Amino acid sequence: MTSAASAMMASGAELLDYDDVIARYKPVLGLEVHVELSTATKMFCGCANEFGAEPNTQVCPVCLGLPGSLPVLNEAAVESAIRIGLALNCEIAPWGRFARKNYFYPDQPKNYQISQYDEPIAIDGYLDVPLDDGSTWRVAIERAHMEEDTGKLTHLGSDTGRIAGATTSLADYNRAGVPLIEIVTKPIEHTGERAPEIARAYVTALRDLLRALDVSDVRMDQGSMRCDANVSLKPKGAGEFGIRTETKNVNSLKSVEVAVRYEMRRQGAVLESGGRVIQETRHFHEDGYTSAGRTKETAEDYRYFPEPDLEPVAPSRELVDRLRTTIPELPWLRRKRIQQEWGISDEVMRDLVNAGAVDLVIATVDQGAPSEQARAWWGNFLVQKANEAGLELEALPITPAQVAAVVGLVDSGKLTTKMARQVVEGVLAGEGEPEQVMTARGLVVVRDDSLIQAAVDEALAANPDVAEKIRGGKVQAAGAIVGAVMKATKGQADAARVRELVLAACS
Ligand code: ADP
Ligand code: MG
Ligand code: ZN
Repeated sequence: MTSAASAMMASGAELLDYDDVIARYKPVLGLEVHVELSTATKMFCGCANEFGAEPNTQVCPVCLGLPGSLPVLNEAAVESAIRIGLALNCEIAPWGRFARKNYFYPDQPKNYQISQYDEPIAIDGYLDVPLDDGSTWRVAIERAHMEEDTGKLTHLGSDTGRIAGATTSLADYNRAGVPLIEIVTKPIEHTGERAPEIARAYVTALRDLLRALDVSDVRMDQGSMRCDANVSLKPKGAGEFGIRTETKNVNSLKSVEVAVRYEMRRQGAVLESGGRVIQETRHFHEDGYTSAGRTKETAEDYRYFPEPDLEPVAPSRELVDRLRTTIPELPWLRRKRIQQEWGISDEVMRDLVNAGAVDLVIATVDQGAPSEQARAWWGNFLVQKANEAGLELEALPITPAQVAAVVGLVDSGKLTTKMARQVVEGVLAGEGEPEQVMTARGLVVVRDDSLIQAAVDEALAANPDVAEKIRGGKVQAAGAIVGAVMKATKGQADAARVRELVLAACS
């Protein structure tokens, strides 16, 4: 059974053929991405902001909403929010208040969430998203605003793990109050059949950008980056947008694409049969379909009002200007530029990116190594060592400066390539700096011709038949003598020089 067919079985929904959807309707998308900031502490209190601790060990009166406690805004979170806004080409609001979003549900012990409602910190930006075919799609950004994350509820006793039918619910407030940024696009139109691809490409680009900004660990699998996908269809020729659904917490890049495509086909079938799409949230299922959630609250349901316990956020021009200087080049443009500088193919670059080697190679080049050698070390030998050790490349106990030092020692003839590998192994084993490893392991290239000559003479004398062949013009036979000399000198002689001396001795 195809995955689409099994999704249809599992969800019970009719799906229209994708080509028919595209022939009759125009999809409109809206993507809301939540990112948890990797600040040391929470948004409004001093509790540690860390994933994976024992439940309810990172809580205090503020994030538990105990009476009499007062929130204090985390400055580092505001700076991250501004940097995200700037990287998304937004205007940064010179003044804005937080709001209380009121709702009664135990994932937020205060019974409200502190958020920014109509006064977000960043508005009206865009992101130029790279697509697989090398072109770029500009996604307009409506706003990026700050809010606090909710606690995590675990429902037991229901088949689905959802609250309906549950007999027990467990609440963990470690996540309550973790700084969140919500980034909302303007409606994305005119994508046609590329809607699912563009949705995935946007979330991918946003993740790469946030990672380059170093504001979040952007782990979709752990929920530090979450995407809600709004999808609607409008019949070709219609003026107004159709009714949208909002598929919540789509938790991988691939799933963003799958969810959008599925909703387009499901809504297509609803409309074709003369039905109406219901405005609702939907749940995404790993097997590739969505199911109905709650019908959508409206803003009025939340009774927003300005948060009286916090001062307005009023970043100075100086602060914004200073933060602007910290915005990195877009990561995919940087990769392109570096690839051109190094003169390597897309495949080689992709391998380096996948190995997590690009920044390490750059750092090694910055330490004076030619890029080719730096790439060879990180992209081959060290990747292999990292795999053997089950480590990420950057977690290997060797620095770009040390790799550059080894490259320098090879270039200046102090190490052969083979010895250099031993030196690197020594560094990885904690034996010290490259020069120390050389000394400790007695790794020295023998430059002294008289020493090499003596070893050559000895090897020729020990293998008279081979010597005879070489003298008779069989130059290939020299390899055996070179090998014997290298062995006798423990690999410390320069092989090319050995060969020269062997041939000279036999001519
Ligand atoms: P909500 O609070 O309901 O989640 P938001 O404004 O936060 O609303 O986000 C709605 C998202 O959906 C935005 O990205 C918006 O651009 C987009 N959107 C609005 N109307 C439609 C529509 N008819 N079809 C698809 N997307 C839409
Ligand atoms: Mg929203
Ligand atoms: Zn706290």
